[in-house]
Order: sequence, then C-alpha cells, then structure tokens
Amino acid sequence: MKHLFFGGIHPKYNKEMSTTSLDFLTVTPRQVVIPMQQHIGAPCVPLVDLGDHVLLGQKIGDGEGLCVPVHASVSGTVSAIEPRPHVSGRPVLSVVIDNDFQDTPFPPALPGKDVRDLSDDEILHAIREAGLVGMGGAAFPGSVKAISAMGHVDTLIANACECEPYITADDSLLRTKPEQVLKGMMILRQVLRPERVVLAVEDNKQAAIEKLHTLQADFPEIEIVVLPTRYPQGSEKQLIQAVTRREVAPGKLPVSAGCAVFNVSTFAAIYRAVSLGLPLTERIVTISGETIEKPQNFIVRIGTPFHDLIEKAGGLTDETERVISGGPMMGMAQGDLSVPVVKATNSILCLPKDQNGAAENPVCLRCGKCVAVCPMRLQPLYLYRFGKREDISELERLNLLDCIECGSCAYTCPGKLPLVETFRNAKRKYKEAKSK
Ligand code: SF4
Ligand code: SF4
Repeated sequence: MKHLFFGGIHPKYNKEMSTTSLDFLTVTPRQVVIPMQQHIGAPCVPLVDLGDHVLLGQKIGDGEGLCVPVHASVSGTVSAIEPRPHVSGRPVLSVVIDNDFQDTPFPPALPGKDVRDLSDDEILHAIREAGLVGMGGAAFPGSVKAISAMGHVDTLIANACECEPYITADDSLLRTKPEQVLKGMMILRQVLRPERVVLAVEDNKQAAIEKLHTLQADFPEIEIVVLPTRYPQGSEKQLIQAVTRREVAPGKLPVSAGCAVFNVSTFAAIYRAVSLGLPLTERIVTISGETIEKPQNFIVRIGTPFHDLIEKAGGLTDETERVISGGPMMGMAQGDLSVPVVKATNSILCLPKDQNGAAENPVCLRCGKCVAVCPMRLQPLYLYRFGKREDISELERLNLLDCIECGSCAYTCPGKLPLVETFRNAKRKYKEAKSK
C-alpha cells in the first residue's frame, strides 16, 4: 500500500515481544515518587506536608497558568518532599508517598448528571482537574490543547499509530478497553464539534482493529481509518497528512490545519475523568527489549520506580547496555533506574549494545538518503554540518527547529553520523543564541 506522508522508514518493529499475553500485570509499589513536573509548562506546588496521610486520587500538587494538578497514586503517608531523579535527566521536586496498601480512595468527582448534559466548561474543568496530559509522550496539558482547538478544527483525530518499535501500550489498551477510547472521543467531540472524528490505527495492529470494528455500530460518528504502517506516522504532522492530506506549515500547530490530535490513552483517560470522576493515577506501560527477561505490558501507578517494574518483569540480563524511557527512536536513555513512571511514560526499553550506533570517525558520504526519509522535508546532512559548526544563521535558514528528532535520518545513514544528538545540541545552542 502507498504510504500517505512524505519520507519515513520501516524499522524492525519487534512488537510481538510484548504482546504475547493480554493479561496485564498490575504493579503495586512499596513507595511512589510523584514529580511536581510531569507536563509541559509550569511545575506544580505541593499541597501536602511531610507526615500527611493522603488518599488514592487526592490532589497533592497544583499551580497556575500552563499547569495541571498531580494526584496521589496510592493511599499512604508523605515521607519526603524533595528533588528526586526524573526521566528528563535533571532532579525534580517530588512528593514521596509510603504505600499503606489500603488503596483508600479519595471521593471521585462524579459529574452528577449524564455526560451529554454537561456544558463545555464542565467537561474542560473535569479534564483539567484530573491532571490529564498528552499520554503519547508529549505531555502537553489536555484541557489547554482542547481549549485552543475550540472553534478552529473540523477534524478530531485519535492517534493509535504507536509507530515506534517495541511499544504496545496503546495496542493493548485498544484490545482490552476500546470502548473507553471511543467514549472519550465522543466526549471531546461534544466540546469541539468537528465535522469528522477519526480513530487512526496502523495496519500492524489487526487484533485491535477487529475489536474496534465490532464496536463501530455503537459509535457511528467515529471513522476507523487503517493506515499502512510506516515510522513516524504517529507524529502529529505526519498523521494529519496521512488522514486529511493537509500539510501543517513549518512552525505551525495542527490547529492551523483544522485538526486536533490526541493519543488514544488520553481519550481513555478523558472518559475516566469526565464520566467516572477519576484522576490520572495509573497508565499502561510496555516493558520490552532484548535484555529484559519477560517483556510485557503492565498497569502501573504513576510514580512507580523503574527498577520495581524491571524486577517484576524478571530483571535485566547481563547484556543490558541501555535502559530507555520511551522508544528506541525518540526515547531518552536513563542512567538512574530509581526514576519514576510519569504520566507520559509509555515504555521502558532494555537493550544490548547498539551494533548500528554512531561510528567513531563518522564521515558523510553525501548519498542523500537522509534527505529522502526526512518526514519534515529537511536536509539532515547540512543540519549536521552547520550544527557541528554552531552556525546559527545557517541552522535558521535550514529550519532546524522543525526537526522532530524522529531519528529516521540516523537510522538510514550509511556513514553512521550522530545526527540526532548533533541536532539536539544545535537546538540548545540555537535557543541560547536567540534568547540573548
Ligand atoms: S545519509 Fe548520512 S552519509 Fe548519506 S548524506 Fe545523509 S548524513 Fe551523509
Ligand atoms: S531527526 Fe530531524 S532531520 Fe532527521 S529525519 Fe527526523 S525530522 Fe528529519
């Protein structure tokens, strides 16, 4: 089948490793570490003190502006409020809770009437108060994204592409709780009033697609669109192009093309927040890779340390060289396995030494393969050259900031140039230069 967006690649997907069982394992940690920063925007301020007893689902941090609250994912006692290691690589102020294993719930914020009778403001308030963020990895506050789309979009898209290798968290959600996703889509449809509502899924998720088709009669307003598998189709701009044939202009947001895109896990969380009054305290996490004993999906409390999950999955083998939060293409290597699962953690990947990693003395062969696969129509070989030189005006001319760091160029580069690392560094230098 012809692919529907420019560029892209077919990496080895390795998804079957973590989809052998449909039974989720629930991980109940002895202690959770809840970072006050789990979203793009301003950090939360703790609302609890040392020694406080907190309930499951109780709000324990909140703030003003571009900020959403965080909640206790277990009931128990606050044993520390201090900076702790975080998946971003820098310490973040966190509330540590010793689990009392009672799961005493904070009373859910039930809407008190049928969801169809709720006003837009009531729905948006429920989404904010539940602490919802983009759960595909972006972590942008969900209510803010919905508000900015109101009156500006004709197409609402649920992103079920999950195009990175190894990760099967969204696939597992669709195979086990597809109705939660579809109900969440109907709730946001009620607020955004788009002409078209699409759930877009790649054709390597046949079991999920069959499940969705069995429910379609109950949700006739929602189109299930099956796309040919190709990385990075799950990236917003590529997905919009594949679904609508519209291109989002450089530097612009999806709303400029009349589209709003939310991850399927976010839609399920919207359903739980608005219909059941439940905040975001747990999520599905894939733990996979060649060096974990038992790859699988877990339902995980937010704040669970990575090492608890690794232990539950049978532990690491001696060949482990890297543990990554996220996928192999866009994820972040972790040096400290005490970091907690946050709202946007969809995967923990355990990998051996990368045989295809960057060369010691990389040389550009000027083959042009990186240009052919770049989904943003950039020229990675020149971005690399001027990135090394930190030539800010050339990097601006080459639209460095449009790079989504998808790694397609590095994957295909026969010269094994460290392209993405160079672009990340160059972006830092670029932003520093522009802020002076
Ligand atoms: S793919 Fe690699 S070797 Fe080929 S032009 Fe691009 S950077 Fe150079
Ligand atoms: S990492 Fe950036 S430059 Fe490379 S293919 Fe992706 S968007 Fe293009």
